[in-house]
Amino acid sequence: MKAEIISVGTEIILGNILNTNTNYLSKKLWEIGIDVLYHTSIKDDPKLLKEVLNIGLERSDLLIFTGGLGPTSDDMTKEIVCKTLGIEMELNKRAEEDIKEYFNRLNKPMTYTNIKQAYLPKGAKHLINEIGTAPGVYIEYGSRRIVLLPGPPKEMALMFNKYVVPLIKQDYIIKVKTINTIGIGESTLETVLADLIGNQNPTVATYAKEGLVDIKIVAKGHNTERVNFLLDEMVGKISSRISEFIYSYEDEKIEEVIVNKLRRKKIKIAICESCTGGLITSKLTRVPGASEVLERGIVTYSNISKIEEVGVKRSTLERYGAVSKEVALEMARGLYDKTNVDIAVSTTGIAGPTGGSELKPVGLVFMSIVTKDNSYVIKSIFNGDRESIQNRASIKVFDELRK
Ligand code: ATP
Ligand code: MG
Repeated sequence: MKAEIISVGTEIILGNILNTNTNYLSKKLWEIGIDVLYHTSIKDDPKLLKEVLNIGLERSDLLIFTGGLGPTSDDMTKEIVCKTLGIEMELNKRAEEDIKEYFNRLNKPMTYTNIKQAYLPKGAKHLINEIGTAPGVYIEYGSRRIVLLPGPPKEMALMFNKYVVPLIKQDYIIKVKTINTIGIGESTLETVLADLIGNQNPTVATYAKEGLVDIKIVAKGHNTERVNFLLDEMVGKISSRISEFIYSYEDEKIEEVIVNKLRRKKIKIAICESCTGGLITSKLTRVPGASEVLERGIVTYSNISKIEEVGVKRSTLERYGAVSKEVALEMARGLYDKTNVDIAVSTTGIAGPTGGSELKPVGLVFMSIVTKDNSYVIKSIFNGDRESIQNRASIKVFDELRK
């Protein structure tokens, strides 16, 4: 089934609100096996509404409108859709009662315009709005299905999941499996998996976000065994090619995997961060159970703090500069010596956008890891803005801790 999403609202077009409805619906539709081919946003304008409806009817099986179901005069989605399709509107008793009850509950007077919302297209399905006043509508028009949902994201999502999904769900099973990878770029991954990415069922797609790439495998079929077989077969093929970069088959965050691994192995860690400013520590502490693993995280941003907190030698700082493998190593070593942990980690780098030089460019980061038997420094040069460089450095550290 081919679908399109049409968001109605001048505030979207003006850039005053972010169109999260389309984003949400796309993801959900995709999960239930419906291809979303178009996104359209339009002003609250009857001419435009009519135009996009007619275009949508030509090219899509399913049209989902959000917004413009409210009581005010600029809300006209339902009216224009009905007029264009030649469907009459009639007062829906249930919708009327719901709206009255809604106002009773809030102890607010109901205005005449709210009754307008209880008029629904004849023969259409009424989608009950439990948390707002605007009812939704599901219309079957020849081979086309048209869904009207209110604009407020919470109302839209609740009604979509409860009423629309059962109506549009395909009569086959769809299962999604996510493989999380780290340390391999999206383009390399796409090259290695090129033949599999061209596959029809299951489909394979990659989604990159700063040093991490998720591989989504979607299998469809009429019975569960077949779908599971297709998924397992594809997971097997992918694993055999890139196993060393896979950190989870469970759609997990890398920091979750790290915390759980360290917990299992009863390993304690301490972190001393300069350019990442506490990001690594912060990410770890977001995972439940981090207290069993994380001994401390300190931010030693200035030179003096590197000396005072973790015993970096003044001479090392003077000779090599704060962003150097020598300082990174002394930071991790100093932290290791003053704590009782199994692993000490440090970061020092240039997050930019200024402060870089030819020898030490923006994005240069040294990360050191010290354990009982091992100590080393990794040097990386990351691309991107300040936030992205910090994030990539944290991912790199997690990649090391995973090994
Ligand atoms: P209401 O009864 O609240 O007026 P409505 O169906 O008429 O509902 P709109 O008036 O179009 O909906 O939008 C109401 C509010 O919902 C907007 O002010 C905005 O905050 C939010 N909203 C609308 N469309 C979107 C969208 N596409 N993405 C995110 N939020 C949206
Ligand atoms: Mg409105």
